[in-house]
Amino acid sequence: MVDRIADIWGPRAPHGRGTVWPARVDQYLEDGLTDADVDRWVQSACLLCSNGCGCDIAVKDGRMVGVRGRATDVVNHGRLGPKGLYGSTPWARSPDRLTRPLIREYGRLVETDWDTALGRIVETSRRLLADRGPLSHGFYTSGQLFIEEYYTLAVIGKAGIGTPHMDGNTRLCTATAATAFKESFGADGQPGSYTDIEHCDAIFLYGHNMAETQTVLWARILDRTRAADPPVIVCVDPRRTPVAIEAERTGGVHLAARVGTNLALMNGLTRELFVNGWVDDQWVAAHTLGVDDLRTVVDPYTPDEVARICGVEPDDVRRAARIFGTSATVLSTVLQGFYQSHQATASAVAVHNLHLLRGLIGRPGSGVLQMNGQPTAQNNRECGADGDLPGFRNWDNEAHVHELARLWNVDPLVIPHWAPPTHAMQIMSYAEEGSIGFLWISATNPAVSMPESARIRRILSGDQCFVIVQDLFLTETAQLADVVLPAAGWGEKTGTFTNVNRTVHLSDKAVEAPSEARSDLDIFLAYAQAMDFRDADGRTLIRWRTAEEAFDAWREATRGRPVDYTGLSYTKLRGPTGIPWPVNEAAPQGTDRLYTDAVFPTATDHCETYGHDLLTGAAVTEQEHRALRPDGRAFLKGAAWTPPHEQTSDDYPLLYTTGRTVYQFHTRTKTGRSRPLHDAAPDAWVEISPIDASPLGVTEGDLVRVESPRGAIEVRARIGNVMAGAVFAPFHYGAWDLTGVAPQGQHRQANELTMTVWDPVSKQPYFKTAACRVVKLRDGDRPAPAPTTAASAPVTRGVPATAGGAPTTATPVATPHYPNDPAGTDDVGDR
Ligand code: SF4
Repeated sequence: MVDRIADIWGPRAPHGRGTVWPARVDQYLEDGLTDADVDRWVQSACLLCSNGCGCDIAVKDGRMVGVRGRATDVVNHGRLGPKGLYGSTPWARSPDRLTRPLIREYGRLVETDWDTALGRIVETSRRLLADRGPLSHGFYTSGQLFIEEYYTLAVIGKAGIGTPHMDGNTRLCTATAATAFKESFGADGQPGSYTDIEHCDAIFLYGHNMAETQTVLWARILDRTRAADPPVIVCVDPRRTPVAIEAERTGGVHLAARVGTNLALMNGLTRELFVNGWVDDQWVAAHTLGVDDLRTVVDPYTPDEVARICGVEPDDVRRAARIFGTSATVLSTVLQGFYQSHQATASAVAVHNLHLLRGLIGRPGSGVLQMNGQPTAQNNRECGADGDLPGFRNWDNEAHVHELARLWNVDPLVIPHWAPPTHAMQIMSYAEEGSIGFLWISATNPAVSMPESARIRRILSGDQCFVIVQDLFLTETAQLADVVLPAAGWGEKTGTFTNVNRTVHLSDKAVEAPSEARSDLDIFLAYAQAMDFRDADGRTLIRWRTAEEAFDAWREATRGRPVDYTGLSYTKLRGPTGIPWPVNEAAPQGTDRLYTDAVFPTATDHCETYGHDLLTGAAVTEQEHRALRPDGRAFLKGAAWTPPHEQTSDDYPLLYTTGRTVYQFHTRTKTGRSRPLHDAAPDAWVEISPIDASPLGVTEGDLVRVESPRGAIEVRARIGNVMAGAVFAPFHYGAWDLTGVAPQGQHRQANELTMTVWDPVSKQPYFKTAACRVVKLRDGDRPAPAPTTAASAPVTRGVPATAGGAPTTATPVATPHYPNDPAGTDDVGDR
């Protein structure tokens, strides 16, 4: 029996290079239940991070009562992490579930029936469409719905209404990952594979505290670093995370670059490849474009110059570059430390540049994992509910628009493609001024998760915009809405989703949703039906009624595109494992790794974008792209480093950075309702280095006020391992579980302090580069409510260790054969 709060990554299973990760089934059943108590197990995959671990849901007496990992699944080989084990099911029967629709009457939300709620939505929608046209409508969705729901929403928005104002909270999360792929390779889609972990010589983690954000994937890495012939780890992170500690342990490097300087560091690493002759000139000449420009851009970034900008040691830059330049295979992973920071896209693209310069792509052990944060973010990007056209089509390519128009049987002019899709931050600006008068928010909580919280609250609560919120609970955002719709959640509906590794899982319905809650698919279909959207022949626009029918419609939308689902079906997905796309006639069992032939989807008629200038965001035109004749070659692109928008000053001398931590997910809608997860991190905190805390007179657990030019929070201080000059705040904590304190939780909500600023290419807002000051309010009477088990560990002695997870089992089982992942070293291939 294992306490997976205390032991985050579970028991080790060390194994050698090129061998299959041993299987182990992790399981947790609530209330001391045993296997004998479970009525049935229902196939699914975990929905609490982008790793997408295959699992089965335990059902007893019509309730979800636990989960177990699927040993046969290629993603997790049976393992689950603390969030998956403890957080997957308790929320479902939380007494505060939304069970009936709510409408606002005289300033208050009151219960109503579905006809009344939908009637109000449809009446407002029709009136605004008649008075002001499609641009009056905006949709802001999630990274947590299913393919069938995103695709249906995309068709509603693009072919039913014709609005370009569609995006998801993926904009806050993985927009940079998608954009970086498009800029380098021509289309979104993860080139690498988790199986690269089994084959690589080095792993670079850029702004990616994988040990906390994707705990099962980190366990997979630990099972190699703790065996013979381990890969060396290089960590880029301003905090001394478990990843940084493992980097030191494996003889690698921890590069704690100053917040806002990632691109300078990346330019320095790239320059080292050039000056040391670690570039595969032949491969670069055959498969890439832009090497000469890139060499020129990075030339000023000597190790000494990088050290000056980033605050790292010049020799550490040289060592890290040497590891990259001389390892036979390298796996890189990237996450929010790059995506939510200054010059996000340019920094993420720089990771691709390193791989392309050495030809380390499309080969076992040499992949790039531009990670996602949320479990179904990938699908939002694929299906087009984030504003892109479905199937990785290019909004700027008339032929792609016409393909969709034929598929949906609508006039191509209905599909908005006269300008780029409107990104989330701009949608909020339009809602602020009222040009968007109808904003439908599904499965996300912008009142907590978007930057500059006070502004977002003002926008959502104002009279200028009619706001609909569809969710499981009365979130901080739902409290501000005009209509609230109760949604069914994971395990209460059927659908498919795709993890960061392109692996598609089917999640079957295990139990009934409470009372009147409906699946998001059913809600969207009900709206479409009530609006009576029609195609060019007067037939009903959206003719699917079930999740499986919606999936089949989606498959057709992917035909011939890089994201090809045509070989998948619900029947096929009810097998032992998820299956990575593309799945089609050429690859009926799926595709473990992209670009094995070094041919990239960059042809002008095929690509998802013509690209951008990474410094300014200026778009490349079709003519300019065609003139380059990319024809399957990848782009090498660079940009000069520029200082972040908000610099420290005498008034605000510290840098403020936000992030995720191990026991909570997003705004805690689910994880905050799990007792073990809640107790492990029950309240907000900030982390300050001992160097900064000492002159302020701040010690462990003291109450401090952290202020930026936009707002302030008052929380306890953890004297921790964040780099000197920086302050870290977890972004999970809003106000839904507070009573009798400041409204909307502004005393502890990390985004009170962040800025309304975004990357020029991906449009992802910056959550990690603001200036702040810290003031001590009073002595603490107990330690900060931060975990001791990972990056938030205290430097102060005597803080009780975080523990308290109910017993779980971790059962080693015979390792099955995994498709695309044969045992032995013979698939290491042509490195
Ligand atoms: S790693 Fe992510 S997907 Fe896997 S169990 Fe944990 S939270 Fe769920």
